[in-house]
Amino acid sequence: MDIVVISIFPKMFEAITEYGVIGRALQQQNLQLTLLDLRDFSSDKHRSVDDRPYGGGPGMLMMAEPLAKAIEHAKQVVSKSLGSSEIPAKVIYMSPQGRIFDHQAGVQISQLSSLIIIAGRYEGIDQRIIDKYVDEEWSIGDYVVSGGELPAMVMIDAVCRHLPDTLGNDESAAQDSFANGLLDCPHFTRPEVFDGVAVPSPLLSGNHAAIRQWRLKQQLGVSWQRRPELLAKRDLTKEESQLLEEFITEIDSRTSSDGDS
Ligand code: SAM
Repeated sequence: MDIVVISIFPKMFEAITEYGVIGRALQQQNLQLTLLDLRDFSSDKHRSVDDRPYGGGPGMLMMAEPLAKAIEHAKQVVSKSLGSSEIPAKVIYMSPQGRIFDHQAGVQISQLSSLIIIAGRYEGIDQRIIDKYVDEEWSIGDYVVSGGELPAMVMIDAVCRHLPDTLGNDESAAQDSFANGLLDCPHFTRPEVFDGVAVPSPLLSGNHAAIRQWRLKQQLGVSWQRRPELLAKRDLTKEESQLLEEFITEIDSRTSSDGDS
């Protein structure tokens, strides 16, 4: 996958390019990441990219002209790398006003061959750039951070996890929260007893069916406790309904025996 990022702080991306899953994806060329410094597309000697907003008010705004030039350049970078037969790259603007980015969006975006991401700064970008060039606006949550770089890195990391051959066997995205519409189950490693608390016995049984069932029951239970809306969105199989019922009964009996003592 080819990703081009437009930012005034391209060096911030070293935080992900040098390490872990993305570092490996870049080395293996599963991912090509081009970082464009917006200031290189400024037309004045001070390399300015921002100006005061019309109508007044606090803060500055990213100007249309350097952004338009940077986007046109990014499109050329992508089409050179992929060839002209590919579908043109989608232009994404990271914005608190966008749709909330989630697991499903990450999977869908990972199926694209190319992407251009604009990381905003200041009070954001000139609306005419959004109207002319931006295909999708994505938000990482209902709060505002100071720039689009961190949101872009969050998106790139989440997307990268779904690229073929990017994760090693023991990091499979299919086991993670949200992959099957549920939260992940609790995990344990050595020692078998820590601070007087033992690892749940099904995990030590070596019985694969029992382990699968225990994990699924925990996934259902944890989702029911913390994110009931996930369960509401999902049709439970007969086995899942039964496991969830068992989980709730076990919790209830634990709570009432705690109350007795
Ligand atoms: N004035 C904007 C507003 O209230 O909608 C916020 C501007 S913010 C200080 C600067 C940049 O950070 C934005 O242009 C955007 O690229 C990025 N940003 C901030 N919060 C974000 C979020 N929750 N999701 C995605 N991008 C965000």
